[in-house]
Formats: sequence, C-alpha cells, structure tokens
Amino acid sequence: MNSNLVTIVADVRPRQAYLAVVDFNGRFLAQMATPITSDPEQSVSKLGIAMRSLMDQHPEKTFEGAGVSLPGRVDPDTQRLILAPNLSWSGFDIKKVLQQKLKLQVEMDNDANACLLSELWFGRMDGVRNAVLVSLSEGLGTAILANGQLLSGKNGLAGEFGHIPLDPTGILCGCGLHGCWETFASSDAALRFYAELAPDARKVTIHDLLQLTEEGDKQAIQAISKQASFLGKGLRLITAAISPEVILITGALTTYWNRFGPIVENELRATMLAGTPPRLEIASGGELARLRGAAAIVLQRHSGYNRSTHPVRARA
Ligand SMILES: [Zn+2]
Repeated sequence: MNSNLVTIVADVRPRQAYLAVVDFNGRFLAQMATPITSDPEQSVSKLGIAMRSLMDQHPEKTFEGAGVSLPGRVDPDTQRLILAPNLSWSGFDIKKVLQQKLKLQVEMDNDANACLLSELWFGRMDGVRNAVLVSLSEGLGTAILANGQLLSGKNGLAGEFGHIPLDPTGILCGCGLHGCWETFASSDAALRFYAELAPDARKVTIHDLLQLTEEGDKQAIQAISKQASFLGKGLRLITAAISPEVILITGALTTYWNRFGPIVENELRATMLAGTPPRLEIASGGELARLRGAAAIVLQRHSGYNRSTHPVRARA
C-alpha cells in the first residue's frame, strides 16, 4: 500500500494515552505519550493538541484519518462512549472535540476490537472464521469474530465477558456488580493479589510485578499465577458461548507467556465441555497492538470493505 498515506492514532488508557503515526502497512513512524485524567474535557483537549503536534512533525505525509482505541464501548449510533468502568468519560463527545482539533475524520472503537482488527489486517488470521481476543489491562475486554464477522451487538455491547461475575461475593467491580471476571484476571487484579500477599512491598506497576517474577519473588509469582489461573477458568465463558477456533490473548501477561501461559492452557483444557480446546495464542504486536488496531479501524472504514462481511486484511 502507498506508504505516503498515514493515520494519526491514539490508544487511550485510564492513566495515559499513547499516540503514533502509523502507515497503512502497519509501520510506526513516530510515537509519544500524554497523561489522561478522569476529566474528559481537559484530557481530550490535551490529547487533540498532542495528536496535532505529532501530525505537524510529518508535513510530507498525507493523513487519511484518525483512529482511537478506547477502554470502553462506543455506541455505533451515537459514537459516544457508553461503558468505560475504568475511565469516567461516559457520554462525553470525544469524536466531536478531536475532529475539530485535527480537521480529520475520527474513527473510534473498543480496545479489544482494535486489537482483533489489527490481527485481521496485519496479523496471521487468514482462514480463521471464529476467534475471540481477550485484552488484559486495567480491565479485561474481549472482541468476537463469529462466522468471519466482528460482532458488535445492540449498542455495541457484544463481548462483555469481563463483566460476567465469577463470584457474586467478590470485590466490587467498576461496573457496579461484584466479582466480575475482570476483577480476577486483569492486570489490576494481579496487582491486588500482590498487595494482599506482600502488604509491606512497595507499590508496583504490572511490568514491575512481572519483572519481579523473573527475579524469583515468591509473592509476585503467586500473584501472577493466580491471575493466569483465573484467566484460564474464565475462558470457559468464551468456549461455552462462542466455541472459537482461536483465542488470542494480549496484554502485559503475554510478555512472560512461556512461564504463565501453561497455567492458562491447563485451566482452559480442564474447563472444556467437550472436544478439543481452541488454539490459545498471543496476539501479535504486544503493547503496540491497540495503536496498530486504531490504524486498522481507519483502514477498515476507508477501504470500502464492510468489516461485518469482509474482514479482509491488508497486504504489505
Ligand atoms: Zn464488572
């Protein structure tokens, strides 16, 4: 594809947004980060300014639109964020503000959908008709490819497996219910397990915690193993509902998959209703998958392909 055509993309997370200029072959030309707070007006304004400044660094490129990956659900009709338990921006018109600042068409989607689209456009999904992607971060999001179609559902809410309670007596979730799958299997869940196991330890990030497992820290290993175990147990929700050929996992845990992947795999195997389990794989792109996915959202909407009928991927 024409490498002069690029997109400006953002991966918005509860505490930080990552920005990049990505070409239509999925290559990164520039990256930066900007802080995010619970104040949508201030945060989105700053985000727009940062995206604009990154665009201005590439005057030789043609910007074909902007893509935004969000940690919540976007209503397909209103294009507003309607469910974002870890980011209190519900109802705020992100798209309108960004379009004004960037003077570009802005496309938005849920972070898990963005990652699945990244796999479809830039990954190795040829021939796969049924897949589920599980995205681990502060929360746990999923995206569903069913019969070759990315499932959106009424109000864009299909695939909220993360908010199905595994234990109604568990801790309060951001969605208002107790003991949702994400309160056991997200990165934040692993951090909570670690704080419970090592109450005197310093406050760590998920990357610090994973590094500690590498250094042999017993409590860190226990905390991540517990997260991996609950991740595997919860996959039963997915196999029972969708029975996909492939389950793709993305998020910090996948950087230590050699160590913790087998725990997930064993739980998945143990919870199958019948038959062989789906292939369990790590999504490609790692931490960059959402940014690349945000570019795929733009590519999808501008390519003339309807993603609901033609999940055709780009070829370099
Ligand atoms: Zn919940």
